[in-house]
Amino acid sequence: MPIIKVRNLTKHYGNTEVVRGLDLDIKRGECFGLLGPNGAGKTTTLKMLLGLIEPDAGEILMLDQPIPLQARQARLRIGVVPQMDNLDPDFTVAENLLIYGRYFGIPDAVINSRIPSLLEFAGLTSKADTKITTLSGGMKRRLTLARALVNDPELIVLDEPTTGLDPQARHVIWQGLRRLIHQGKTILLTTHFMEEAERLCDNLVILDHGKVIATGNPRDLIAAEIEPGVVEIYGERVDAWAEQNGAAWCTRHEITGETLFCYTHDGTALIAHLREQCELRYVQRPSNLEDVFLKFTGRELRDV
Ligand code: ADP
Repeated sequence: MPIIKVRNLTKHYGNTEVVRGLDLDIKRGECFGLLGPNGAGKTTTLKMLLGLIEPDAGEILMLDQPIPLQARQARLRIGVVPQMDNLDPDFTVAENLLIYGRYFGIPDAVINSRIPSLLEFAGLTSKADTKITTLSGGMKRRLTLARALVNDPELIVLDEPTTGLDPQARHVIWQGLRRLIHQGKTILLTTHFMEEAERLCDNLVILDHGKVIATGNPRDLIAAEIEPGVVEIYGERVDAWAEQNGAAWCTRHEITGETLFCYTHDGTALIAHLREQCELRYVQRPSNLEDVFLKFTGRELRDV
């Protein structure tokens, strides 16, 4: 029995159908990613799952509760990390946890008994009595994540958990999320960072224009959808090189700006050829989830 089962979920804003017949099956204990370019419908989908907006059509069953009918009951068993930190600046780190816990009707004694381990999880034990305004962005995110655990949720929903963080802070959040996965929590996250999804997610969907356009385990998707290797070639004359040589050397190639992405099954001969082309620079790497994402959603900017 999936922890979240969605069938034919649909939502319009005005005449635009922003979620179009979405089906999802999220298993208990997995980390599931909801990916997609800006405007794909990720946040709208999360809001419908949490019962914050009503679908126009479709069914949601989450933690065995029909949503939105029993959204309030379901939310008691869910932790939510919103896109923007909404910690209360008037209170200290520990007080934020206490006050948030009270929203769930948890007695103060129970919350207070949980606070030390939540602070330890967030790496903020020494900051318990510190005002929120003095915390760094990374600390605030860690506290928001710890706060989402105050009700000991079975399911944790995170909307872009590491957007705006530096690489070090991002790695700390990933470590925390992996800890939660090992504890058996189910995680549903949206992200723009393909590396994040590739590292953390057991399964994912890529949404575009409100529809699922790819689904599966990240490694399986990479193996099924993309050639195993990529050579990124860049330099002023890359256009001319692509015109003359692209089809000969690459199974498939795409140009973005002044970089040519050459997808190959074996890049050895291409690399030997490129060593002779002094005006071009290149980097060879294994294909990754970003390549899958760009194959499905294209390389044009999405200014939504
Ligand atoms: P994502 O989270 O994938 O970036 P959203 O779910 O936020 O996408 O938005 C999907 C589409 O719905 C976008 O085109 C957005 O402009 C539109 N949209 C989102 N919220 C509203 C709203 N409250 N009113 C009108 N249009 C909205």
